[in-house]
Amino acid sequence: MPVLSHLHQLFNAEQCQGYIHTLRWKDRPLQCPRCQSHHIGQWGTYHHRPGCKRYWCHRCKRTFNDLTDTLLHRSQRPLSYWILATFLLCLACSSRRIARELGVHIRTSYHWCWWLRNAALSYEMERQLEGTVEADDLYHTAGNKGQAKQGGKKLLGRRARGRRKKREPGRGHYDKDRPAIIAWVSRQGTVVIQATRDFTVQTVQRAANIAVQVGSRLYTDSASSYRAVKGYVHEFVNHTRKEYVRGEVHENRAECLFSLLKPYLRVFRGLSKTNLPGYLGLFQFLRNFRAQNAFEQAELILQAALDPTIARRVQKGEFVKCFDHFDLLQTAIN
Ligand SMILES: [Zn+2]
Repeated sequence: MPVLSHLHQLFNAEQCQGYIHTLRWKDRPLQCPRCQSHHIGQWGTYHHRPGCKRYWCHRCKRTFNDLTDTLLHRSQRPLSYWILATFLLCLACSSRRIARELGVHIRTSYHWCWWLRNAALSYEMERQLEGTVEADDLYHTAGNKGQAKQGGKKLLGRRARGRRKKREPGRGHYDKDRPAIIAWVSRQGTVVIQATRDFTVQTVQRAANIAVQVGSRLYTDSASSYRAVKGYVHEFVNHTRKEYVRGEVHENRAECLFSLLKPYLRVFRGLSKTNLPGYLGLFQFLRNFRAQNAFEQAELILQAALDPTIARRVQKGEFVKCFDHFDLLQTAIN
């Protein structure tokens, strides 16, 4: 038998609390989360949470602590669990893996992952590329995993995808459980990845308007949907004629991004359509902050989770809704 089975058993509770305290008030003054008053006094500590300080607001006459109104507020688990979970999320672990490494129930880690992913998306809301941008697309199988109401299995209404029969014939489509993923990669290094219902001219045009600033230079392959896109200086290479590079014009960065995206998505062992935009959003965050190591990325996510305004929006699922281009692009059409 091992001496310890979980890494976070080595974490010092007081140090975790001190770390979270620093992170929460790093870029903002100590203020009451309810009335925003800065007239604050100390108000003792907690027996069950070593290191957690309590404050008294002189204006609304109530107490609060470092976790009040954040995503970590009212969590039954110690902070060490959250810190390790966020770190593992940035190492692209699945929620099942995180549950095992933390020693919590799968439902707990699923919820945490969903929240933390949303918190990461808060950094990616305003992302728009400019300059020279490459684009590429692929279709990815995503069905209704985990969508049965009572748990267990849901009736598919079609033949199950066997190990061999991976896809229906023809182009992918949201309704065929094979939505399209479009990646936009700036030559400066930033990326935007979108899951869309299909790959028609209208969809690509709307996706481009969201992801890329009008007037930018766009390099793609010869797919007709790209060729019809307006508002950009567009050039393409013709893969059917075995042309992959023509001087400056190529989309190797976009293809390279997909070669990283595919193994990232494979970890989850099949995805649901409802979760696909969130997973892609987190991948986009990890790519755009790739200069940082996994723990620095985790720190960014934790810092967002400790912001009461972001936490409130995360709990309503607002960020992932903005990222859900299935609906976004669809409503734009109607
Ligand atoms: Zn107050």
